[in-house]
Amino acid sequence: MIEQTLSIIKPDGVKKNLTGNIIQLFENNGFEIKAIKKLILTKEEAEDFYYVHKERPFFRSLVDFMTEGPIVPIVLSRENAILKNREIMGATNPKDAAEGTIRKMYAESIERNIVHGSDSLESAKFEVSFFFNYFDII
Ligand code: ADP
Ligand code: MG
Repeated sequence: MIEQTLSIIKPDGVKKNLTGNIIQLFENNGFEIKAIKKLILTKEEAEDFYYVHKERPFFRSLVDFMTEGPIVPIVLSRENAILKNREIMGATNPKDAAEGTIRKMYAESIERNIVHGSDSLESAKFEVSFFFNYFDII
């Protein structure tokens, strides 16, 4: 099934000038870029985006990290986009991430892990519409 998923190049990835590399990796893996932008989240927006984690001990720190600089949200499309993107991102903790994955190659820590990716159809719908309107997605 052709799906859409939301990727975000997080503030650490943008700061390290990895935006181009990561987009190239998506295209090399058969993803189409359907929409893309650059912005800085407010604390309130970051809290809303990560509401599923609001009871977790790392929530405050995650919100601070995600608002420390610009991010690049991207709508990606391909067959099995959600799972495929999770594959090329690698595990949340870069120590556990497989060789060749984005997080293995570039992430510093379990928190500063370069990219976000939707984890289900339901979250992909919520996350895509968090950043993009229907008419932004080509
Ligand atoms: P993923 O991004 O792989 O889907 P989660 O949804 O579990 O991971 O967590 C969301 C984000 O919260 C992670 O990408 C990471 O930035 C941060 N995070 C997750 N677990 C921890 C942790 N134990 N300590 C600090 N930050 C964490
Ligand atoms: Mg997640």
